Amino acid sequence: MKDQNCIFCKIANGDIPSATLYEDERFRVIMDLGPATKGHALILPKEHFANLYELPDEIASEAFVLAKKMVTKLTETLKCDGFNIVQNNGACAGQTVFHFHIHLIPRYKNDQVGLTWTPGVLTEEDKAEILASFGR
Ligand code: 5GP
Ligand code: ZN
Repeated sequence: MKDQNCIFCKIANGDIPSATLYEDERFRVIMDLGPATKGHALILPKEHFANLYELPDEIASEAFVLAKKMVTKLTETLKCDGFNIVQNNGACAGQTVFHFHIHLIPRYKNDQVGLTWTPGVLTEEDKAEILASFGR
């Protein structure tokens, strides 16, 4: 299914041109227009799924295998020092385009990308509550 109003549906299906690194029947991998670092790429499924919650298992599995291939090749090309794979779900998590996508962000020693957070504390109360919801 495609969403007429979704920019990533149009890009993924070639209706809007993009700098495409890879394409197959299910996915297109493009260069991000606002890269965090040199080589920042996005994996887009051609079908419209708003987020991870909506993504079928088969596409989820294939997407991560593709992420591995792209990261391997991009690391050779860019000679970067590491990689972050980021996938935002929901506006509060930083999602701005509501068509599932995976960010592939090359990292370079001493780059200024701010993907870190201040560690909190795992409280006994939170731990018990969450483990209980898994029957543990
Ligand atoms: P999100 O914040 O939803 O996780 O990520 C959206 C990403 O899409 C951002 O990194 C943004 O730079 C990128 N982006 C938004 N519009 C376009 C576009 O039209 N073309 C490309 N190539 N990237 C886009
Ligand atoms: Zn879409």
